[in-house]
Amino acid sequence: MRREDNPMKIAIIGLGNMGGGMAANLVKAGHEVHAFDLSEPALLKAGENGAKPYRNVRDAVADVEAVVTMLPNGKIVESVVTADVIGHAPKGALLIDCSTIDVATTRRVGEAAEAGGYPFVDAPVSGGIAAASGGTLTFMVGGTDEAFHRAEPILSAMGKAVIHAGATGAGQVAKMCNNMLLASTMIATCETFALAEKLGLDLQTFYDISSKATGQSWSMTSYCPVPGVGPQSPADNGYQGGFATALMLKDLRIAMEAAQSVDASVPMGVRSEALYAAFNDAGHGGLDFSAIIAALKDNAFGPVGA
Ligand code: NAD
Repeated sequence: MRREDNPMKIAIIGLGNMGGGMAANLVKAGHEVHAFDLSEPALLKAGENGAKPYRNVRDAVADVEAVVTMLPNGKIVESVVTADVIGHAPKGALLIDCSTIDVATTRRVGEAAEAGGYPFVDAPVSGGIAAASGGTLTFMVGGTDEAFHRAEPILSAMGKAVIHAGATGAGQVAKMCNNMLLASTMIATCETFALAEKLGLDLQTFYDISSKATGQSWSMTSYCPVPGVGPQSPADNGYQGGFATALMLKDLRIAMEAAQSVDASVPMGVRSEALYAAFNDAGHGGLDFSAIIAALKDNAFGPVGA
């Protein structure tokens, strides 16, 4: 990781699975990191990792040059930013929201920030907890060129790639579209392996063929849902770790809401959301999203997925 030539004072709000590792990487890059989370253990851990723990958002942002938020949902992001950041951070401080939230809320928060004199970027991430602690996240950034150029060195301390997707909200659009596509390819890969097995085809043989043929996708060749087939993936670890089903469902719900708002036809997305909702409701929200192969093998969604 690159040590910053130009260390800054940066607040980070939300020190959970993702924000905790991101805060530690900002410290490693040489920044003075002001940390806040409602959770006492998360705050203590950030302190142990070299950040300065604060008792509330307003004090944490009082004299910083940038504020990073990494929070569970849009409602929380909007309330934290509008009630405790705008008007409390120094005017001109850059606001960077790395949470995955809906596009409409992102645009509202961005407008409120800019009206208050704060440049804003949405910068959701691809990569999970390991990438957050290892500093290898990919950031998809929405905002003006100027705000992007200010955000880039800060985000580079926490990731391996920082991509400008377009205007405010474009980062969330990119993230949501990518994950909707990922959900569809994962379910398609899982149901195909389940079918191949029922028809008596050796799954390694099917992988060897399809991974070089037109059925190939990231879900197959980088994240194969079948244990012992393809490179190491959560399937080889009892579907622990990786990208939780509950988080995939959250992203799909954001995508469905956005699709509705622009009257887009997304039948595969709709079906993926329904299948992941059923899998989640059956108590598997904590398992990696590739674990849905078990439900498909068991005909949990009906013999032809009715
Ligand atoms: P998490 O639940 O582990 O952490 C969220 C943290 O926010 C918690 O520590 C919680 O105490 C804190 N918090 C909640 N309300 C708060 C408030 N009002 N003020 C201050 N702190 C508050 O969630 P996470 O896994 O770190 O995810 C954070 C965001 O990143 C989400 O939007 C998620 O969708 C996104 N994301 C997660 C992953 C992943 O693999 N975990 C991957 C990509 C994106």
